[in-house]
Amino acid sequence: MSTFLCSWVTPQAAYSTRRSLSCFRGATTSQAQGLEGPSAFRAQEKQGYYVGMCFAASEKQLYSPSQAPEAWQLFLMLAVTLPTITCTLIYYWSRDQWAHHPLARTLALYALPQSGWRAVASSVNTEFRRIDKFATGAPGARVIVTDTWVMKVTTYCVYVAQQQDVQLTVTESQQHELSPDSNLPVQLLTIRVASTSPAVRAFDIRLNSTEYGELCEKLRAPIRRAANVVIHQSLGDLFLETFASLVEVNPAYSVPSSQELEACIGCMQTRASVKLVKMCQEVAEGECQQCYCRPMWCLTCMGKWFASRQDPQRPDTWLASRVPCPTCRARFCILDVCTVR
Ligand SMILES: [Zn+2]
Ligand SMILES: [Zn+2]
Ligand SMILES: [Zn+2]
Repeated sequence: MSTFLCSWVTPQAAYSTRRSLSCFRGATTSQAQGLEGPSAFRAQEKQGYYVGMCFAASEKQLYSPSQAPEAWQLFLMLAVTLPTITCTLIYYWSRDQWAHHPLARTLALYALPQSGWRAVASSVNTEFRRIDKFATGAPGARVIVTDTWVMKVTTYCVYVAQQQDVQLTVTESQQHELSPDSNLPVQLLTIRVASTSPAVRAFDIRLNSTEYGELCEKLRAPIRRAANVVIHQSLGDLFLETFASLVEVNPAYSVPSSQELEACIGCMQTRASVKLVKMCQEVAEGECQQCYCRPMWCLTCMGKWFASRQDPQRPDTWLASRVPCPTCRARFCILDVCTVR
């Protein structure tokens, strides 16, 4: 196990291992570990202190706890029970090379009969290292989608589902006026990931609606949508729609019949469909310049180019701004973008 799973295992389970081992090894290591140890371990140190005090201050009769007030008896009982339960649990997890650890048990659900959870872990690790995985969310609730797996990693739990047998449903959407990273409104979607296999627990993932398109690309299964949920598009998509509708009302440009329209040099998928003609003002006036390039771009690519030159923090200025032609750098505004006929 390395990278991803190991990084998850390290803070919790591996730490527990050290803790449990030191419990069995005795006091010398316990003191070194105790400095960084959690409360269960410190409780053990306190027990040592208590036993010491039984001898050191014998007049306090610490060796017969039954004479202490009830509250202290309860306290003592908890101080003994909690570390015992913790150690027992860790010991149980660690048997058969950690096969009983909750994470190993989760992964074992996907293991083939002849291989164990480690094979699944290494598959997850391999795919996690790929650059094209989808990852989003805060460190405490990270969502990761790889070619085969859909995972949610929280502080104390890892949820894993296999892409081929999951059903995803957008169950809820929340609208927030402002997001902490930008001054734009955000929509958060809650998506329920349910597996067709009954042994796998369903879980919810949350993501920004602007990442929804990227998630859909990574997933092989379609995402269903609850009837009342409307997914808002990303700012870029919204702009492209507006851009297209504004260009539509501009006068069209007719190409000379001798000129043939080439494929758009941005996407190479559609024909070039727009020409920049200065229409907003008279030729010599204003900031816009005449572009003499032949039609080379499709409407979508031109819209994307226009959006890419804008300040993402100030969407209110986008429609009124001027950007340079992607080929000759002559400045143009939206009024100058003409569809080609
Ligand atoms: Zn294009
Ligand atoms: Zn140009
Ligand atoms: Zn103009």
